Amino acid sequence: VIESSKKLVFDQALLPGGWQERVGLTIDEGVITTVTIGGEVGADAEHHAIGLPGMANLHSHAFQRAMAGLAERRENPADDFWSWRDLVYRLAHTIGPDDLRVVGAMAQVEMLECGFTRVGEFHYLHHDQDGHPFAEVAEMSSAIFAAAVDTGIGLTHLPVFYAHAGFGGQAPEEGQRRFVCDLDRYALLLESCRELARQLPDAIVGIAPHSLRAVTSEELDALAPLAAGAPIHIHIAEQLREVEECRAATGANPVTWLLDHAPVSPEWCLVHATHVDEDELHGIARSGAVAGLCPITEANLGDGIFPATTFADAGGSYGIGTDSNVLIDMTEELRLLEYGQRLTSNRRNALIQGNCRSTGRSLYQTAARGGAQALGCPTGLVVGAPADIVSLRSDHIAFVGRRGDHILDSFIFAAGAQAVDCVWRRGERVVSQGRHRRREEIERQFRNTLPGLIA
Ligand SMILES: [Zn+2]
Repeated sequence: VIESSKKLVFDQALLPGGWQERVGLTIDEGVITTVTIGGEVGADAEHHAIGLPGMANLHSHAFQRAMAGLAERRENPADDFWSWRDLVYRLAHTIGPDDLRVVGAMAQVEMLECGFTRVGEFHYLHHDQDGHPFAEVAEMSSAIFAAAVDTGIGLTHLPVFYAHAGFGGQAPEEGQRRFVCDLDRYALLLESCRELARQLPDAIVGIAPHSLRAVTSEELDALAPLAAGAPIHIHIAEQLREVEECRAATGANPVTWLLDHAPVSPEWCLVHATHVDEDELHGIARSGAVAGLCPITEANLGDGIFPATTFADAGGSYGIGTDSNVLIDMTEELRLLEYGQRLTSNRRNALIQGNCRSTGRSLYQTAARGGAQALGCPTGLVVGAPADIVSLRSDHIAFVGRRGDHILDSFIFAAGAQAVDCVWRRGERVVSQGRHRRREEIERQFRNTLPGLIA
């Protein structure tokens, strides 16, 4: 198969060093092979107004999209993360492989439409509804891969190791029956997932020890080498109860314990890390690991606010994730990340990085780089990176009279997802005028599937 090369030209595009005019990109087999600045638009080029590199969504549980909006009623006066989790478990018990493919594809369509071009799927539904292993160990994972084929999204699949209901190796609960593996079965699962990944052009398989609640110290020691250089993601310090239980069991806060006992490195992504002290923030920054921040979910679940300003000032890397997928909206994740810092510091323009004066650009570029690092792939409109690109609607009223950084500031703070025009994955246009090319069909399947899951 001879794949012809393709040329895109943008009136303005965001390159790693900032905005440039008349940016031409040549794309061969999904990868950017040349970047030119200031040239003419040739007759062979496709012409667009505003170009950005695609954003990474570093943390998702796709199946939870099915219950978005269903946990917003007060069932008891002490509603919290743990009562929400009961609802997640109820849904987790109904969803089969075909359902997961449909719900996952719907979530991925929404991700692509708002500018996410790659997703880190933190996947823990492994067994059938009764908790029995499927004949094919990666049956549920293969539904996620199939959804990624349907939608074209870049996939970093993170099969989860989950073995215990709490610190000290407590036996798992009945409600966790679909998640639980021993180390041997997990190694088989990982091998099957790697086989699935070989069938996609740029899928990546990492590993995900679920949390310090669900994995013992010995298990964590055995798991880390299985990553073999690929991403390692772990939920950590999301909830105060978890922090208290960790202190009771180990005498240390979760992040302190992890930094002292695991080989935390730039391949690691510490998801949430909400409850950290200043030493822990500096420790994460020194390790080079990425903080995986999920501002919409963290707000929805009442987790708390990660001290991102202090972390960024210490040189820490962060990215964003849609986690529970209660709302899939890239600009809203970035906006809420910044607003959380403003609301707790009584200052404006908190997450400014280096000598960049634009909050929008600081947020966008930092999250795109951190997210790509956490998902194990290159990013940016640069030679060698996948041609994962987002264009914006130049006719949106939020962009009247805007150029350069003011476009990103207006996109994130004044316009939002409606300003997305096209999205390319590996040079192929999967979203046009804000709509995924297969939305209609995937949406129809979703409408047919959902009522059976949440009855
Ligand atoms: Zn999560």
